Amino acid sequence: MVLIIIILFGLIWGSFLNVIIYRLPRNISIVKPASFCPSCKHKIPFYYNIPLISFIILKGKCKYCGNKISFMYPLVELLTPISIILLYFKYSFTTFFLFSFIFTSALIVLAFIDYYHQILPNEITIPGSLLFLGYSFLNPYIDFTNSLLGMAFGGGILFLIYWIYLRIKKIEGLGLGDVKMMIMVGSFLGWLKTLFTLLIGTFAAASVGIFLIIFKGKDLKYSLPFGTFLSPSAFIALMWGSEIIKTYLNLFKKN
Ligand SMILES: [Zn+2]
Repeated sequence: MVLIIIILFGLIWGSFLNVIIYRLPRNISIVKPASFCPSCKHKIPFYYNIPLISFIILKGKCKYCGNKISFMYPLVELLTPISIILLYFKYSFTTFFLFSFIFTSALIVLAFIDYYHQILPNEITIPGSLLFLGYSFLNPYIDFTNSLLGMAFGGGILFLIYWIYLRIKKIEGLGLGDVKMMIMVGSFLGWLKTLFTLLIGTFAAASVGIFLIIFKGKDLKYSLPFGTFLSPSAFIALMWGSEIIKTYLNLFKKN
C-alpha cells in the first residue's frame, strides 16, 4: 500500500519536475500557464497529462500538432518514483528521507537542464546549499563542520580546475554552475562522499568523452554537460557511498 502511494506520488512529482526543467531555463512561471505543448503551444487537458500513461496512449506524439514529445518527459516521470522508492527502502520515513528526497529532486532537475541548456541554475543550487547547510544541525550522518568542508571541497576543487583552465587555456573548461552544484552536493553529503561524487562523475564524463572522440569523431573542444554526470554520481554517493568506500578501503587492509 505504501509502495503504491509512493509510486503515484512519484509520478505526479516527476511531472512537476518536468515543468521546472522546461520552464526554469526559459523564465516561464512555474505555476501560471497550464501545461502546453512545446511545439504548438496548445493547452494540454488533464486527461492527456497523466504521467507516463498519456505518453504511451498518445504514442509519444502531441494530440494536436502530431509533433514528437521529447523522451525526457517519460524518463523523468520514471526516474523520479524509482529514486524515491530506493530512498524509502534505505531510509524509511525519516527527516533524512525528506531531505534526501529534496536533494534528489534537485539533482534530477539539474541533470536535465544541464543536458539541454548547458546551465545549472542558481535558483536551484544556491537555496539548496543553504537549506542543506542549515539541515546539517539535524543531519544524522554529517555535522555542521563536515557540511562546510563538503562545500569547500566540492566547490574548491572544481573552482581550481576552472581557474587553471581559464589561466592556461583561456577557455571555460568548466562552468561556475558546476562549482555551485558541487557546493550544494557537499553541503548535504559531507567532504568524503563529495570527493567520491567528483571521482566517479569525472570518470564517467571522461569515459563518454573518449568514446565520443573515438567513435563519433568529436574533437576535444566538444564540451559535455558535466552536471549531467555529477548528478547520478551524487545519487550513488548518497545511496551506496559509505558501503563502496568501506569496501574499497578494506582492500588495503591486510588483517
Ligand atoms: Zn503540439
